[in-house]
Amino acid sequence: MKRILVTGGAGFIGSHLCERLLEEGNDVIALDNYFTGSKSNILHLLDNKYFEVIRHDVTMPFYLEVDEIYNLACPASPVHYQHNGIKTIKTSVMGAINVLGLAKRKNARILQASTSEVYGDPKVHPQTETYWGNVNTLGPRACYDEGKRCAETLFVNYQTQNNVDIKIIRIFNTYGPRMHPNDGRVVSNFIIQALKGDDITIYGDGSQTRSFQYVDDLVEGMIRMMKTEKGFSGPVNIGNPNEFTIKQLAETIITLTKSKSKLIYFPLPQDDPSQRQPDISLAKKRLKGWEPKIQLEEGLVKTIEYFKSTLNI
Ligand code: NAD
Ligand code: UDP
Repeated sequence: MKRILVTGGAGFIGSHLCERLLEEGNDVIALDNYFTGSKSNILHLLDNKYFEVIRHDVTMPFYLEVDEIYNLACPASPVHYQHNGIKTIKTSVMGAINVLGLAKRKNARILQASTSEVYGDPKVHPQTETYWGNVNTLGPRACYDEGKRCAETLFVNYQTQNNVDIKIIRIFNTYGPRMHPNDGRVVSNFIIQALKGDDITIYGDGSQTRSFQYVDDLVEGMIRMMKTEKGFSGPVNIGNPNEFTIKQLAETIITLTKSKSKLIYFPLPQDDPSQRQPDISLAKKRLKGWEPKIQLEEGLVKTIEYFKSTLNI
């Protein structure tokens, strides 16, 4: 039985990952400060004797005995990570230093949840792992983008200097049950607006694109990445390459919820990437043929059901 630490384990993705790791017979510790995560995401796991939760902030050192670490602690939605940009940078950078120190001391394998945001507003399409990105260091998204870029750099330096067994994945837009209802991300916003019959808020003209991945596909990719041979550290893109405009997403959600909501338009936020699509050739090759199984409509139906039942709408 492996003892596995998941930082950010009470968050949207972290809670699904903890659930899956427990199902596979591991001893799981979720560490979280509940900034954007919540106890309700992991309540159903608390009866499991092999699950523990620690309320702690990753910017402060911590000492645990573990075999593997998944480092997810960091607010992920633009609204939340821009709420306190300095704290977001500290979480990515000081958090990485603390988990890497732990991995070094315990000789533990460690996976970093990096992001497609390291590519910024990409000039290469679709994005391959070899692309260095186009990030505005001074813009409102930089606290997240540069924090995550620096974390990747810390990971590779701990690998080369200290022989730490690292894995880096770059996650593309992921959605599903347990997304925070108020975090402002597009899938949760549109579903809640459609269910309530409110106007659907499109930023810009809705022609910007994203490629949406259902959370179960991501968790499968994370676990496969953790199991790759020593020395293979990535980075590896994990996402669903089916690309949609934001307007198409709104129209699909209106159809699936049979909503009467209308589309309304607001200015596009600064530095909002105009297109995003992962090239997943490397993941397919190195993660035993991994590829996303759940396509947009199927995943949206599950997510709509979740918001309907939890928000009572
Ligand atoms: P989330 O906000 O639901 O989860 C983040 C978790 O980290 C929350 O439980 C939060 O309370 C916790 N956290 C934040 N700061 C912390 C701190 N200082 N100390 C301890 N815990 C802290 O977001 P998510 O979508 O589940 O994202 C999880 C990870 O995946 C993040 O690192 C994010 O950058 C990465 N990621 C997510 C996406 C996506 O589309 N969801 C895309 C790319 C990367
Ligand atoms: N967006 C939108 N309306 C919303 C929320 C988001 O049009 O209510 C747009 C946003 O401007 C971006 C895309 O949807 O172009 C995805 O936004 P999200 O915050 O989900 O993630 P991002 O990929 O930008 O980090």
